[in-house]
Amino acid sequence: MSVEDFDVVVAGGGPGGSTVATLVAMQGHRVLLLEKEVFPRYQIGESLLPATVHGVCRMLGVADELAGAGFPIKRGGTFRWGARPEPWTFHFGISAKMAGSTSHAYQVERARFDEILLNNAKRKGVVVREGCSVHDVVEDGERVTGAKYTDPDGNEREVSARFVIDASGNKSRLYSKVGGSRNYSEFFRSLALFGYFEGGKRLPEPVSGNILSVAFDNGWFWYIPLSDTLTSVGAVVRREDADKIQGDREKALNALIAECPLISEYLSNATRVTTGKYGELRVRKDYSYQQETYWRPGMVLVGDAACFVDPVFSSGVHLATYSALLAARSINSVLAGDLDEKTALNEFEARYRREYGVFYEFLVSFYQMNVNEESYFWQAKKVTQNQSTDIESFVELIGGVSSGETALTAADRIAARSAEFAAAVDEMAGGDGDNMVPMFKSTVVKQAMQEAGQVQMKALLGEDAEPELPLFPGGLVTSPDGMKWLPHHPA
Ligand code: FAD
Repeated sequence: MSVEDFDVVVAGGGPGGSTVATLVAMQGHRVLLLEKEVFPRYQIGESLLPATVHGVCRMLGVADELAGAGFPIKRGGTFRWGARPEPWTFHFGISAKMAGSTSHAYQVERARFDEILLNNAKRKGVVVREGCSVHDVVEDGERVTGAKYTDPDGNEREVSARFVIDASGNKSRLYSKVGGSRNYSEFFRSLALFGYFEGGKRLPEPVSGNILSVAFDNGWFWYIPLSDTLTSVGAVVRREDADKIQGDREKALNALIAECPLISEYLSNATRVTTGKYGELRVRKDYSYQQETYWRPGMVLVGDAACFVDPVFSSGVHLATYSALLAARSINSVLAGDLDEKTALNEFEARYRREYGVFYEFLVSFYQMNVNEESYFWQAKKVTQNQSTDIESFVELIGGVSSGETALTAADRIAARSAEFAAAVDEMAGGDGDNMVPMFKSTVVKQAMQEAGQVQMKALLGEDAEPELPLFPGGLVTSPDGMKWLPHHPA
């Protein structure tokens, strides 16, 4: 069997895989991406965050294509959650610091979104082979040196590479090869039952494109507009209530909808789609987990292959594309001979773990707030409704932590706004009053907010971006074009 050779082989052509492949190929390296399915293919995870759209996608060179694709514009989120009976809304652009043309994301049909990213990868020089299932890695001592896959004709193939990246999602067949175990959260273990409806009601303008998330006694619903008429609707129930989604899925979903007055009202004139790719009622575990280690010599995990956290804040595609950006920087630095593998990939793992940790910490509190009006979910609700300084700061935090979104539209104002943003973060993180939201006390949250803001700033400003500080003592900083790491030399 002849063995082809590449610099990098990527397993999986979802957002994580196509992002890392593209960003490495853009540096002139030879990249092969192997995707099991033939695109377009169905995937769940339709509500995006601004950091993906305006940060990573801009770096990929695909932001304008996305903007022209006609996806519904998501200006924020509308929640019926916690003790307050009325729905409340947060806008990405509610703060003066976040106002502007980057203060939104999109609700996407993933078959279309993922195909746009994969086609862009091809245009940027990635060799993409669909219908190819990667089933194993090739090892030489402690190092991974290649991958084994089955091609569309059923032939066994092998390819060698300096790096193998597993971006094959939560059902990855490779992730365990990186070492350690996949550790599941005891706290976030839910199941989702979901389908698609035509003719559902819309939130009033200008928030008709918002995600609507509605808590009810047995869990919560998402309600995501995918076009003027098509809506993605899913019920998430706790593991203990798994019996509620067993058996006849149609009956189960109808029963759950009937338990949730707001979703019942929104679907009162709607018809469930029963044909085509949206015709099936699907069930997915959305258990949160993270792999004990995200890399070993010659192998890296990105996206769901590495970790997943509860979907209530729509963080999955953000974590996949952000981790892909971090991995690409590390690999580009090693392939260019700038850094040793350990230094570069430790930076990737530290930043990725911190970002995951932010969402995890935030979500624990969000669910605690659901039962305790004194908790900081209540604080979040209060903040998003009153537009005080605290509110504005909190919304900025949501944008920074959950999305990296800073809505910094004018390049010459980005640096100044970023400094204001960092100052607001410092002020809040340093506070200790009764109204202090516990999450703000977390160093991990504070650091990730700053990093998320920098991702967007880098994408918008390129070479003109403000110099940044390492996120960890002795850590690395990003190169001016955002594509590699650099050692930090304090002035
Ligand atoms: P994937 O998107 O899973 O892509 C992996 C790719 O690898 C696939 O194309 C697959 O075909 C391919 N593949 C698999 N095995 C192999 C193999 N052996 N060889 C080659 N290729 C292979 N995220 C959001 O951002 N917003 C949301 O609103 C949201 N809602 C969610 C709701 C639920 C119920 C769940 C469970 C998740 C949700 N997510 C959401 C998360 C989102 O689905 C994922 O985080 C995201 O798709 C991860 O991207 P990825 O590139 O890592 O993996």
